[in-house]
Amino acid sequence: IGWFARIPRAERDAIFGLVEDFQKDTSKPKVNLGIGVFRTDEDKPYILKCVQKAEEKILKKRMDKEYSPVAGFEIFKKLSMDFTFGKSSVFNKPGRHVTFQGLSGCGGLSIAAQFLRMFYPGRKMVYISDPTWPNHQNLFNKLGLKTDTYRYYDAENISLDFDGMMEDIHKMPYRSIILFHASAHNPTGFDPTEEQWKEITEEVKKRKLYVIMDNAYQGFASGDLNKDAQSFRIMAKRRVNMVLVTSYAKNFGLYGERVGATSFLVDSKHEADKILSQLILLIRANHSNPPLHGARIVEEVFTDPCLTKLWIEELKIMANRLKSARKQLLQKLKETGSSRNWDFITKQIGMFSYTGLTKEQIIRLQKEFHIYMLTSGRLAIPGITSKNVEYVAKCIHKVTS
Ligand code: PMP
Repeated sequence: IGWFARIPRAERDAIFGLVEDFQKDTSKPKVNLGIGVFRTDEDKPYILKCVQKAEEKILKKRMDKEYSPVAGFEIFKKLSMDFTFGKSSVFNKPGRHVTFQGLSGCGGLSIAAQFLRMFYPGRKMVYISDPTWPNHQNLFNKLGLKTDTYRYYDAENISLDFDGMMEDIHKMPYRSIILFHASAHNPTGFDPTEEQWKEITEEVKKRKLYVIMDNAYQGFASGDLNKDAQSFRIMAKRRVNMVLVTSYAKNFGLYGERVGATSFLVDSKHEADKILSQLILLIRANHSNPPLHGARIVEEVFTDPCLTKLWIEELKIMANRLKSARKQLLQKLKETGSSRNWDFITKQIGMFSYTGLTKEQIIRLQKEFHIYMLTSGRLAIPGITSKNVEYVAKCIHKVTS
């Protein structure tokens, strides 16, 4: 077995590697602004009440633990289409979509990537935003799809580089593949406006691009299920060719349950049947059958009107907690007397603030003050609490002045 020793060591995963470092650090205070998981103002994980109630109902039903169908249960798939594209979408009909239950967002992206690699007849190049969630490049490249980038972020003005993005899309070779973040762009926290999505849609149509829409934050980003879906609903209305990859990790707090839904939009039942047959083979080769528990929870919340109502309230609570943490951080940074303009913090949305801090500054934050962030400058807002916000603001001021 000597060949194991000759395997090159891979770089650590940027996000989970940082979590390990944080856990090993015994200093106090220490602050984890690395990973994108929701935390309460007491820095505790939050189990949604609607999820707990759904679990109680499920437990009482004493359901069996047999395999779920390879692509997931029909009811789950239907409810996912109602949630994402909406009940009245032309695509929410048999023969207009092929949906499967993926292993959360990553698992959905992975099956979609393998499917495109095998069957996509256009140019097998996936354009991802610069910057993007670090796992996008890793995932596509590991699964045999090349990636290239399009401009997205204007570092000088700390804003969306809309003109740069449009120029780059305009130059993309016909029938390439492009990935968008449906809402709460990770890591920048800047999303196009409704008008801008319409412009993007027209350009995508002109270039005949195939769209992978990464929908990791619907309802969680703004607290409004419809607003966070505007990007892909606009595209669906204009018949953009697309696969939508939805994760229920953030909006249900079901991170470790690995539950999500992925939908390919199609033209006919004939197409749908063929695609499904191939997806089933792919899924069999990957994880064979999706897990039961998380999907049952989502199904229960979607079908019980009281639980749906509670869920919508809890989404607002989570979104508001993050908005309020942004406000507090901005306020405390202003109070330090910092000469920088930090106003972008409250203009961004979702889990992250892309701070423009340099790698050196971030290393100092970690070494001297035990504040952990990605060296790209991404700060995870849920790690900010009423207790630590002043400390974090002061330390950021120290390393930036
Ligand atoms: N896409 C983006 C942009 C994300 O931020 C995440 C979660 N961090 C995911 C996909 C998928 O995560 P999961 O597999 O846990 O659903």
